[in-house]
Amino acid sequence: MKPSAIQRKHGLQRPFYPLQIFSWFSCIYNNLIYIVFIIPEHSLPDIITLSSIYATLLFLLILLGYKVSRSDPTDPVTIAYKKEKDQGILQDYEEKSERYCSICNCPVYKTSKHCMRCNRCTIGFDHHCKWVNNCIGVKNYKEFFAFIVVVQFIHVLMTIDIAFIGTQMILNESSMISGYKKAGKEFFYFQEALIMIALVLCTLAATFITKLVFFHVYISIKGITTYQYILSTMKNVEEKNSGNLSENRLVKDEGLDKDKKVSEVKDCNVPENSLNQTMALKINVSV
Ligand SMILES: [Zn+2]
Ligand SMILES: [Zn+2]
Repeated sequence: MKPSAIQRKHGLQRPFYPLQIFSWFSCIYNNLIYIVFIIPEHSLPDIITLSSIYATLLFLLILLGYKVSRSDPTDPVTIAYKKEKDQGILQDYEEKSERYCSICNCPVYKTSKHCMRCNRCTIGFDHHCKWVNNCIGVKNYKEFFAFIVVVQFIHVLMTIDIAFIGTQMILNESSMISGYKKAGKEFFYFQEALIMIALVLCTLAATFITKLVFFHVYISIKGITTYQYILSTMKNVEEKNSGNLSENRLVKDEGLDKDKKVSEVKDCNVPENSLNQTMALKINVSV
């Protein structure tokens, strides 16, 4: 993958990513349907309790979503190095640094990785999130995790409530807003269709985000990043494939003498350097 033409500092910088725009529209749509059609169907005491919980979650969702999107997880060494280079005060960063990025052309932290989508090195790289159009690294991982937990809570709440209220509305053939008799059958069916679309979107979002939250709990317990998890998974697959290839070669060469077989099997194994290079080229970690 070619590096992006621009060097991204945060996720609210143009160009926006299609999934990011979709998430905004989907979020606005689902929340509008929930506020306009679902909450008013509850009894007054329930509306007060539900609205308080929902408003708190919505506030946290907007706040954390903005913080994660607007955060800059760039490796501070690359920023300092470029700044000082621009000012002509070259320091001994090369000697102090643990790694060097050939794309940024400067030294970087050991845990940094160059993200092709953002075209910058991210410190403590976890993954590039297409939904917030930003890299997730050590600088913004806590906010990111809190954000996905809040997204999960609000979507689970909306999914359950929309499913429950929507079903009751269909069974009773009435709603507080349209009122079958007041506004007519057509508006009631139109309202139901809008609610069903929101239910599908919320169910998909709740399922996806719950899986994502569990995944991040799992890798946190293991003490690894998403990037390290993907690397180890790919390595296992490569090893399994090279193992299968070796077995096939052994079966094929049954007629050859033992020494020759062993040397041919060795030739089939991908050299470690080549394996790492292949993985580095293939990987463009994004969730
Ligand atoms: Zn870089
Ligand atoms: Zn990125």
